[in-house]
Amino acid sequence: MMDVPFLDLRLLNAAHRAELLDRLARVVDSGWYIQGAELAAFEDEFARYCGVPQAVGAANGLDALWLVLEAWKRQGRLRPGDEVIVPANTYIATILAVLRAGLEPVLVEPDPLTCNLDPAAAARAVTPRTRVVLPVHLYGRLADMPGICALAAAHGLLVLEDAAQAHGACLDGRKAGAWGDAAAFSFYPGKNLGALGDGGAVTAKDAETARIVRALGNYGSHEKYVHEMEGVNSRLDEMQAAVLRVKLPHLDRETAARRRIVAAYLAGIRHPSIRLPDTAGLPPADCPWHAWHLFVVRCERRDALRQWLERQGVRTLIHYPTPPHRQQALKGRFDASLPITDRIHRSVLSLPLWPGMTDEQIGHVISACNAFDL
Ligand SMILES: *Cc1c(COP(=O)(O)O)cnc(C)c1O
Repeated sequence: MMDVPFLDLRLLNAAHRAELLDRLARVVDSGWYIQGAELAAFEDEFARYCGVPQAVGAANGLDALWLVLEAWKRQGRLRPGDEVIVPANTYIATILAVLRAGLEPVLVEPDPLTCNLDPAAAARAVTPRTRVVLPVHLYGRLADMPGICALAAAHGLLVLEDAAQAHGACLDGRKAGAWGDAAAFSFYPGKNLGALGDGGAVTAKDAETARIVRALGNYGSHEKYVHEMEGVNSRLDEMQAAVLRVKLPHLDRETAARRRIVAAYLAGIRHPSIRLPDTAGLPPADCPWHAWHLFVVRCERRDALRQWLERQGVRTLIHYPTPPHRQQALKGRFDASLPITDRIHRSVLSLPLWPGMTDEQIGHVISACNAFDL
């Protein structure tokens, strides 16, 4: 029987193998492994790609989120205990970053159609203590940034994008990372732009924010042994920066390959109890605002569908099985009733999606879905 892995990272990176080995060998031979030429070049290239004045490498996406919030505190733009509006149905990292910065996450129900932050629901959550709105471009789909930026302007809020899943997603010529005052990216291996290990980056409009983020992640220092603030160690190393420099020029081509698979899924999957992701009625080729990190369907009998697909050799995952407000780690923090979020978590299923899937694999996923007996 045909086996369709959820994501074949080995195959995905094999496409870049020769170039990766060549560039990694150059780093080995350079004798310089932290804060060097590869990082500086990647930061420039990634900033140019996103259309922002500056990018700063970090150790991972969680740190990138935290570094921005912490930098805003140092700039006096935030105070401990200020409220940060976040979508309730995000990966827990978004909320952990807010808590680690000593700020108060306020969970807001998402738009049930897009699963992204709903500006109207966010507006209802604004209080005199709200200082930041933190949209997450979930599954690779850009959140309603015009709506969120209008809300932020009306209430004088800072906007921090969690762009960990949305490298290259673009609306009206503006990419993820270029909408907010700052954004955080992850280069975790499975993300659309993935390193061979952990990695992250901050993009920021304000040069001073970027300067503080850079110092904070480097023991509070711009100059060796001179520490102007209490910092941490959160840096993107030369090996990972070299890997990302190899892969960045291929990102748009790989995203286009994702869109072709999505087009096949949208045209081919026809089942009364499987709801396909919303594309606003457009073909995927005309949705540059979706980077298709994940292809997430909805099904009321999700667990039965998952078992059926597994028996057909189609590997799926759930993003995410338990919402943050129901996690043991956050127990007792949020008492809100979040029925839309709970419903999303009960019904979502992510189908295999990665550039390099064969036509046979794509066809097998489609026919396995269509043969689901319900
Ligand atoms: C992956 C991810 C993160 C965290 O990134 P790491 O690099 O794993 O720390 C944060 N937010 C979202 C939405 C993510 O998907």
